[in-house]
Amino acid sequence: MFALFPRAGGMRIMAQPIAVSKSVRRAVGIDDGLSEFSNQEMYRELLSRLGEDPGRDGLLATPARVEKSMAFLTKGYREDPANILRGALFDEDYDEMVLVKDIEMFSLCEHHMLPFFGKVHVAYIPKGKVIGLSKIPRLVEVFSRRLQIQERLTRQIADAIQEAIEPQGVGVVIEARHLCMMMRGIEKQHSSTITSAMVGCFRQKETRQEFLSLLRQPGTGAQ
Ligand code: ZN
Repeated sequence: MFALFPRAGGMRIMAQPIAVSKSVRRAVGIDDGLSEFSNQEMYRELLSRLGEDPGRDGLLATPARVEKSMAFLTKGYREDPANILRGALFDEDYDEMVLVKDIEMFSLCEHHMLPFFGKVHVAYIPKGKVIGLSKIPRLVEVFSRRLQIQERLTRQIADAIQEAIEPQGVGVVIEARHLCMMMRGIEKQHSSTITSAMVGCFRQKETRQEFLSLLRQPGTGAQ
């Protein structure tokens, strides 16, 4: 009942990206027959391959729960950052640094599909336009609710702001901890990974240093 996939050549089949939608699978020529199975059937199969009994009480509803939680954790694929920013861009002469600090971020690493999480700091210096402040955490959310690597997440946030308002410059810093490293003992429990993306005037030493020194200051506790 739960042996949905043939064992022969099973490794090859399982190596295919199972999260790709039917239409995309057809477009890229993936035809391994798995698209006929529901997500829940595949999670049930996975449980059984892990050595579990998907029929026992505690696991009966697990495929449905995993499907729901994975849909939430990857909802960023179905959201358009440009759409979120549209209607929240305002003409403004302000030309000092705008900094949104300590934005909570939860994402999944694309190599292990395990969480990485931490804080995102976003700064920009406007050139005639500003973004509604609440939209910056939303932007972080859209890109982090996808399979990611921290470096690309950092870059995508910076690029989206750059494209939306063409400011004098943008800086994004992410400090995160990766469960794929921590749980497997590759990283010390308390170390974190820091990535940054600097665009425009944030590439200049002075602006970058102003940004980084603002990050070192303790928060106001407003968040
Ligand atoms: Zn990983």
